[in-house]
Amino acid sequence: ETELETFGANAVEDFTWKQLFDTDACTICGRCTSVCPAHLTGKPLDPREIVLKVGEVMTATGEAKVSPPVGTDPDITIGADSVFERITAEELWACTSCKACDEICPVNIEILDKILDMRRYLSLMESDFPPELGNTYRSMENSQNVYGLNQGDRGDWTSSLEGVPVIEPSGSFDHEYLYWVGCAGSFDDRNKKTSRAMAKLLQRAGIDFAILGPSELCTGDPARRSGNEYIFQMLAMQNIETLDGLGVKKIVTQCPHCFNTLKNEYPQLGGNYEVVHHSQFLMELIDSGRLSLDGASLEERVTYHDSCYLGRHNDVYLAPRSVIGSLGGIDVVEMPRNGTRGLCCGAGGARMWMEEHTGKKVNIERTEEALATGAERIAVACPFCYVMIDDGVKEKHRDGDVKVQDIAEVLAEAVEQTEPPATSTAPPTPDV
Ligand code: SF4
Ligand code: SF4
Repeated sequence: ETELETFGANAVEDFTWKQLFDTDACTICGRCTSVCPAHLTGKPLDPREIVLKVGEVMTATGEAKVSPPVGTDPDITIGADSVFERITAEELWACTSCKACDEICPVNIEILDKILDMRRYLSLMESDFPPELGNTYRSMENSQNVYGLNQGDRGDWTSSLEGVPVIEPSGSFDHEYLYWVGCAGSFDDRNKKTSRAMAKLLQRAGIDFAILGPSELCTGDPARRSGNEYIFQMLAMQNIETLDGLGVKKIVTQCPHCFNTLKNEYPQLGGNYEVVHHSQFLMELIDSGRLSLDGASLEERVTYHDSCYLGRHNDVYLAPRSVIGSLGGIDVVEMPRNGTRGLCCGAGGARMWMEEHTGKKVNIERTEEALATGAERIAVACPFCYVMIDDGVKEKHRDGDVKVQDIAEVLAEAVEQTEPPATSTAPPTPDV
């Protein structure tokens, strides 16, 4: 008899012992729920309930018998060994994978990994995902980027710059760093400004780098976060083949999602590289004196919005603050929810590629908090935070007086203002 392979988590036995044990450890304190951006903005997701509902299904159907989670309603009936008897797809798809729940839980319950395992089941076994995500999957499969744009144009953002080498797939890589630009940095107009700023800063610091251009494919992050392991692995394997074939060792990237995937997830598939986020790299260049900021200043109030995949997922909180804080005259102010308690922009967990039909928009909740600081500039260190917060500022009609920028742009703009204006080398036009 052939046993069908299953992916993700549906029945109690699909969860690990730790995931099930978690359900008994929950103190029902509700801290996770109090910080969940989906819950705070009126979505049907309640992380505490996710934990307790898995526990309820375990109690009703598991062997050996265990006592129900504290506070379980005795009238709840569970007909089958499936968490979807108690948990809806809508709850799971509302999660931005921001990790705020895991971070605050006093007994270290991992809520996000349960949600992602259940999403994996929905996506791969049931094809039960928001329809708009289907377009993103098609783009990743057919065009190797999330936008469905022509991969051949991936390096076009460099056309206004000089001296950014684009590596041919069959060529060799004889540079110290690979600058991994990411889909947003390559194709999204707002984020192309970050890529150009970053390239100029790297050149100014004398860094020997190159980009892959059309040979750089989406890392697969949106696929993995939304449970489509098939597309994730397809893209990841191709990227690893390219990187290993070229002998790439060191990677710098401005996208925390690419950073997290390349650094923490590609090793699971045999791809091992030294990966740094541009905030860390820029901080190192400034601290070592390789990137001179002589006289660079910004007489403005600036607030920094933490990216979940840089902060909670990778513990990088200081570097982006240090980068903008190194400018003279700058007044860096914190939002009430910052650092480990930073509120998500709403784009993580592939939510960037899904519609937000219910409740208040997460990006508006976060943008209002940023605007309340009185900052004239909101600095970000993630291309998706960039889009979400910039859209939020526009929706609040504040784009006339508040600028959203990546930290590399903030830095490059201040540095450029210290440079003498370029003088024309063309001969003067004779008077006629
Ligand atoms: S990861 Fe974030 S959005 Fe998802 S349940 Fe936890 S707090 Fe809510
Ligand atoms: S924070 Fe942890 S212990 Fe408290 S309700 Fe949430 S999962 Fe349970």
